[in-house]
Order: sequence, then C-alpha cells, then structure tokens
Amino acid sequence: MSDYTLRCVLCGEEVPEQYTLACPRGHPSLLRADYAEKQLHLKNAPGIFRFSSWLPIHGTLPIDAGPVCYKSKALARELNLPNLHIGFNGYWPERGGKITTCSFKELEALPTMVRAKENTTKTLVIASAGNTARAFLQVSALTGVPVVVVVPEKAIPRLWTTVPADKACVIAVRGDYTDAIRFSREVCSLPGFIEEGGARNVARRDGMGTVMLDAAVTIGRMPDYYFQAIGSGTGGIAAWEAAVRLRADGRFGTALPSLHLSQNLPFVPMVSAWNDRRRNLIAETDMPDSQTAISRVYSDVLTNREPPYAIPGGVFDAMSATDGRMYAVSNDEACSAGTLFTGLEGIDLDPAAAVCTASLIQACESGNIDTNRTVLLNITGGGYERVREDHTLVPVQPAFCVSAGATAGQVNKELVEIVKIHE
Ligand SMILES: *Cc1c(COP(=O)(O)O)cnc(C)c1O
Ligand SMILES: [Zn+2]
Repeated sequence: MSDYTLRCVLCGEEVPEQYTLACPRGHPSLLRADYAEKQLHLKNAPGIFRFSSWLPIHGTLPIDAGPVCYKSKALARELNLPNLHIGFNGYWPERGGKITTCSFKELEALPTMVRAKENTTKTLVIASAGNTARAFLQVSALTGVPVVVVVPEKAIPRLWTTVPADKACVIAVRGDYTDAIRFSREVCSLPGFIEEGGARNVARRDGMGTVMLDAAVTIGRMPDYYFQAIGSGTGGIAAWEAAVRLRADGRFGTALPSLHLSQNLPFVPMVSAWNDRRRNLIAETDMPDSQTAISRVYSDVLTNREPPYAIPGGVFDAMSATDGRMYAVSNDEACSAGTLFTGLEGIDLDPAAAVCTASLIQACESGNIDTNRTVLLNITGGGYERVREDHTLVPVQPAFCVSAGATAGQVNKELVEIVKIHE
C-alpha cells in the first residue's frame, strides 16, 4: 500500500530494497524509509495496518493487533499530570488492546514478516531472549509463514502462542542470549536464511513508530514528552523518526517530543554514556561487571550489551535531536510503580513497563518535566494475566538443542529438512 525508498542516513543515497539492512557502500549507518506520502493518511485496515502508508510494506495482514492510546484519569490524578496519555501495547480488549503476545514486539514482527515476504524468498532468522521470539512465533502461527527462532534454553518457558506455530522452527542454545545471537549468525550463513536485522530493519523501527503515530492521531498533536524503557533503544529511535515525519506532515505540531528513556539498575549503559554526553559506549565505564549486573535486574528485556547507540541515526542522535533525558530505575522503584499502575489503571504490566512508569514518577518528583504539558507513557507490554482469561496459551517446543559455540555445519542437514517440510 505504501510507496517508499530506502536511504542511508550517512550518505543520503538511495539503496535498493531487497530486505536490505545496511548501506551497500559499507557505511556504518542505519537506513531509513522515505515515504512518498508526506501526510499521514489512515487506511481502512485492521490494527497496525491503519498506518501502512508509513510502513515499508505494500500488503497487509488480517490481524487486528495494533497500538492503543488513551487519556489517563487515575494515574494522571495521582501524579498530578492533567495531560497524561498512555500508549498501551499488550492485551486489554476493554481498551482495544489486542496484542495477544502482550508486548510491542508484535508491532515489529507484523510489518517485518510482510516486508520479508515481499522482498526475499529466504526464511527469517530471529535471535531473542523472549518477547521478540513470542511475537514472531505468533505472527508465523497466524500467517503460516516459516521463521527460525534462536533462543537461550532458559527462555523456552516464555515461548507460547495462542494458535499452534506449526511453521516455526525453534532452536534452543545451551548458553546465554549472546550465545543465541552467535548461533543465529551461523544459521544465517547457510543458503536460504536471512537475519531479521533488529534495529537495522526499517520495518521493525517503523512498526514501533506507530505508537507515536497513534498517539498523535488520538491526541490531535504530538506529545511534548515520550517515556519508554529501553534495552536496545530501538523504540526511542523509532519514536523520533515517526515524530520527524509527523512534523513534516504539518498537522501535528512543530516541536519534536523529547525522549525520556529509562534503564533498570544495576545495568544502565546508555544512561551512563548519555549522562556524560558521550557518543561511544565504554564497556568498563558504562557496564562494569555486566554479567552480574544483568543477572540482578527486574526487567531482563532491558539488558542489551550492544545497543545501536553510537551508530548514525541511532539512540545518541535521537537523544541529541530531541533534547532527551535518561533515567536509571531501581528494582524497588519499578516494583512499586508497577503495583501503583495496576491498582490505578487496572491492568498488569510487563516489568519493562513498570520501569518506565517509575521513570515518569522520578521525572515528576525531580521537576524534570513541566507537569502541565502532554506526556505519552509507552506501556510497552502488559496484559499477561488478562490474556489467559480469553485464550489458551500453546507452549512452543524447540525443534532441537545445540551447545553454545556450535557451528552451522553441525545443523545444516536438520535445517534443510525443516525448511523442506515447510515448503
Ligand atoms: C524489547 C522491549 C523493550 C525495549 O525496547 P527497545 O526500544 O528495543 O529497547 C521494552 N519493553 C518491552 C516489553 C520489550 O519487550
Ligand atoms: Zn551510505
């Protein structure tokens, strides 16, 4: 439905669309989608596909998961924020929330699966420790499009869908998330497979950017502040890119929302680097003793060791362009903020969304924000308890397990068989 070209952020040159993730000239930079329509026209399509004129896809899917935005009453009163809006990305049908895997990763998975189908015959490979895996498994289950999902073995209990994911191949790695990423690269070295791309995938970012689009359309203007908990920061980049498009549209205001992004103590590398106004992450300074730190956070989806922070068009640029702020949130602050939110608004939260709520409380208490202005609180996940009332959750079993450091050669035969079965 949309008409777009890809451009390298660094050199500005057009890049051919073949599910391309990087500038063919070798620039260490993100690509961006440049849409022919400069004004946002909502489509008569379900869920996220309402925004498909600003998604890098031509077709849509008959799936009604999408972002939801509403004006808060109870939390707004509690925090004395008269213009608090909540972007809810999870399962909460009473509010229109129909993301059955309960996080905004489904907003990334939906356009990504369409983009892949339209531009490559290869099978997508996704490495994840949880929410991303579940989102792609669900979209595979609903569409019948195969995917390969590589996860650390201990993430298997988090993998479920609401319909059986018959076309998905899950590989469990006996190791941590980093080992899973390494093994997914091994799989991508085989013919017939392609890496999903994470932050470098424009479909993923513009999918997450629909949270900002939905808020602007609902409120009638862009918010002044955008609050989100980050692990990679891809959602922050996406919110900034969406806001730049909305500014060019002309109907939603001229000031870019400032990004208020949060991480979970003791693992807060981007908070540390940004507070020094440094473009480059320094492992010893920004993430000392990272393994221990990662094992101690309340929300482990916020623990990416290689975020797209320094890369042109990445988190540092998004923060600089919007005069952003970063918050470090303790586990205790997150827990009590989550309890407060659930008590007032009436839905359970993903731990990352509790971290984000705690950062908003910090902002109010420290006087970092003008409390009369418009706030968008991105609740990036929630409704895990609510979804069980309406759906039977189907566990997803791994097709096979490999040890950390296994090579592609060892699994080539099995994978070829799996892809054959899928055809
Ligand atoms: C992945 C995830 C985040 C962090 O998103 P990024 O913008 O990619 O850092 C926050 N909340 C939830 C629920 C997530 O699954
Ligand atoms: Zn380039």
